[in-house]
Amino acid sequence: MKFVCNDCQELMEFVDNQPSEDGSSMAITYTCPSCSRAISMVTNPGETQVVRSLGVTIGHEAFSSPAEPMAMIRGALSGQPNPTMVPDQPDPVWTDAALRRLSAAPTFVQGIVHRLYTDYARQKGYREITPAIMNEAREALGMTGM
Ligand SMILES: [Zn+2]
Repeated sequence: MKFVCNDCQELMEFVDNQPSEDGSSMAITYTCPSCSRAISMVTNPGETQVVRSLGVTIGHEAFSSPAEPMAMIRGALSGQPNPTMVPDQPDPVWTDAALRRLSAAPTFVQGIVHRLYTDYARQKGYREITPAIMNEAREALGMTGM
């Protein structure tokens, strides 16, 4: 894929390729070597898919997967001791106070903490999760600050 500067009739040079956080779009930046005009081409999710499926590489390391760090975290988590699921027990209910406390945790850990504490409470046969049970789960799971 090439772009030509309309003013100079020069081929523009690739500068940068910024995938969006979720990897669904990319902003690909070129500049004109003659007048330094810069343009960015932004792909929509469909175009990103097409470019990826064609195996096209735009610039260097164009498609280092932005999803990889999360995949690594998921992998690490799945390696942790996972409390046995007890299928005929319903999920414990989070009380308002417990949810308020959960919401004080950093956003990126809330989902993990929610799941770990829910698993813990279910394993213990608790029907609801209160701040006191969060304390207990935190001790039992060796977590701090949540
Ligand atoms: Zn130019």
